[in-house]
Amino acid sequence: MKYFVAFFCACSCLSSVLMGEDKIEINSDYPGGNAIVEKIDQEKATVYLRQDLRDTKPWWFYWNFKAKNIGGKTVKFKFVDKTKPWRIIDAFGPAVSTDGGKTWKWLNPPDTKAVNEFSYTAPEGAGVVQFSYCIPYLFSDFEAFAKEFEGRNGFAIEPFCKTREGRQNICIKVNESPVKKKPRVFLASRHHACEATGSYVLEGFMRELFSDSAEGKALREAAEYFIVPMMDLDGVENGDQGKDRFPHDHNRDYIDKPIYPSVAAAKKKLLEWEKQGGTDVIIDFHSPSIGSKSKDGKTFSVNSVVFLVGQFNSEISRQQEIFGDILEGVNKSGLPFLASDFLPFGKSWNKDPHTTGLANYAATLKGTRLSTSFETPYATCRGVQTSKENMKELGRCVAKALLKYLNSPEDNK
Ligand SMILES: [Zn+2]
Repeated sequence: MKYFVAFFCACSCLSSVLMGEDKIEINSDYPGGNAIVEKIDQEKATVYLRQDLRDTKPWWFYWNFKAKNIGGKTVKFKFVDKTKPWRIIDAFGPAVSTDGGKTWKWLNPPDTKAVNEFSYTAPEGAGVVQFSYCIPYLFSDFEAFAKEFEGRNGFAIEPFCKTREGRQNICIKVNESPVKKKPRVFLASRHHACEATGSYVLEGFMRELFSDSAEGKALREAAEYFIVPMMDLDGVENGDQGKDRFPHDHNRDYIDKPIYPSVAAAKKKLLEWEKQGGTDVIIDFHSPSIGSKSKDGKTFSVNSVVFLVGQFNSEISRQQEIFGDILEGVNKSGLPFLASDFLPFGKSWNKDPHTTGLANYAATLKGTRLSTSFETPYATCRGVQTSKENMKELGRCVAKALLKYLNSPEDNK
């Protein structure tokens, strides 16, 4: 794929020289980039493109590209997906950035039926405009957060593992101890590379954990933490779907011999903790599938609400519901969270007790009290648009809920 992108870029650069600087150019050769351009009709200002599935075998929907030389033009972007007639644009259209990815707005096109295409009128003199299926979160976003928090209340980055492509993956530890003195909390996100909302929520969690607030201090005193912000770091940086990648993705790799170094390292930590009495809380932050606008303003699909994925193990499922009730009570993020949006085991797609994801795997270990996947929609939570700010606020509220949960009696009766 890199060859294709490089070839395409070479072509587009060449064509702009040959045909003048005002020709529309599309580029996806940057961290998180993902697009295959089929054709650009310069006269009609229409770009035909599709998402790049790479090693994801079923259909999936992540894409992210930059458009150049579109200032003053109304450009139509048409997704040409030959595999499935499914929607590829979420409830509020594409996320758009005109400042190099610093800020993002949902285009929110009025025509909600045109879910495989959108039009964008760029201001005169617009430079590069970036469009993405969702508000992206890359390793550079994490680094910006880490720079802000470096040394604050014990925040420090430590080596976690080398990725298959040779990147140094990292983790964050709090109160690391060879013997169990406090409850233990394991947090992760990006088992599925494209699921950026999970990263914002996890960053928000860490913002509370390392803050000067009373809750932050209490959280640091209450537990030991092991946090892995980017389980599929290569996939995040390469702009992969990550979900359902062949032969299986990171969240199906909690098997005897994991194929991904990050999963092997996560398993090693969890098994070490199991020997020392177990991991009390495991939260794995994800994004669900494509969300949608509710037709009646009252009903919301499972992909348009924040929810916990119910465990097969009934006691852990009960703990998930207890945690959900606490979170509903403390959530002031602006993104609605209803404990009743819990997806119990046996409902919708949540019917396989043998999946080899982190939350399921951790639920089988001795000493686990609460183990859950935590899903935050890409664009709409009960009709409210996601933003960097409200997703991070949600993470802060998850941290506050965890503090209450840790301080509640073990059986929570
Ligand atoms: Zn996921």
